[in-house]
Amino acid sequence: MKIINQGNHQYYLFKISYLLLAIIAILIIHSKPTTSQEVENEREFDYSEESEKGPEHWGELHEEWEACKNGEMQSPIDLLHKRVEVVSKLGKLKRCYKPSNAILKNRGHDISLQWIGGGAGSVKINGTDYELQQCHWHSPSEHTINGKRFDLEMHLVHLSPDHSLVNRIKVTGIMFRIGRPDPFLSELEKEIMSIADSKENITVGVVDPRHIKMWDREYYYRYMGSLTVPPCTEGVLWTISKRIRTVSKKQVELLRTAVHDHAERNARPLQSLNAREIHLYDPNFRGHDVDALDKSHY
Ligand SMILES: [Zn+2]
Repeated sequence: MKIINQGNHQYYLFKISYLLLAIIAILIIHSKPTTSQEVENEREFDYSEESEKGPEHWGELHEEWEACKNGEMQSPIDLLHKRVEVVSKLGKLKRCYKPSNAILKNRGHDISLQWIGGGAGSVKINGTDYELQQCHWHSPSEHTINGKRFDLEMHLVHLSPDHSLVNRIKVTGIMFRIGRPDPFLSELEKEIMSIADSKENITVGVVDPRHIKMWDREYYYRYMGSLTVPPCTEGVLWTISKRIRTVSKKQVELLRTAVHDHAERNARPLQSLNAREIHLYDPNFRGHDVDALDKSHY
């Protein structure tokens, strides 16, 4: 066995830590300008109130983004109970999702899971199939219910392949409050971590959208709105689940760290409802009045 003299040992340890510090310093100096430059270049819009690219200015940044400023049916909105009409005619949610290959994308303003080639199945609304394209997350929630904001909102974006349709986009929103971890996000944690703060896309393999739990007899809100990011396209039919799920604090933090710094809080401010109607589908509705909304079973 080699015996190291105590004094020498300390000297070498000191030398090694000095070297390590120098390497770290060099890495920091060289990586910092590159990273911030990349963010600057790709940042077409952001969420900061003070920024020139913040939500108040989205509509002025590009001609094609005009709806963000002048649209009358913008999202998100407050699902104010006073304005909600309870109905049963909308019917149960008809989902037919399938496991399919997906990639995870860091889009800077959010993290998005994109299924490839329409293989993830569809939802049927008024007899038309809308294919599940992708899902992504906003924190805190974008929609509010009776003024209450939640910790996270997931959007499932569906598109009809029929180009002759006027309104081809349907989005389902699911809201979360802090509590037990969300099992679907748990499946993706490792991958989300690996694309944190980058511009990377990674192949995840087969992801089963049926793991996004929704009840068959789900209460849901329905209204006509828009995309909540530029170009703020209108004619988007929104379905928002009434039941609030749980997500762990760690999972919300993971999503926030993963997106770029300017989108850590990536919720667009509330938009005016104007003359729009909001419906709430109640599978048990037999004609009781809207005041029932404020009672506990809702
Ligand atoms: Zn969204």
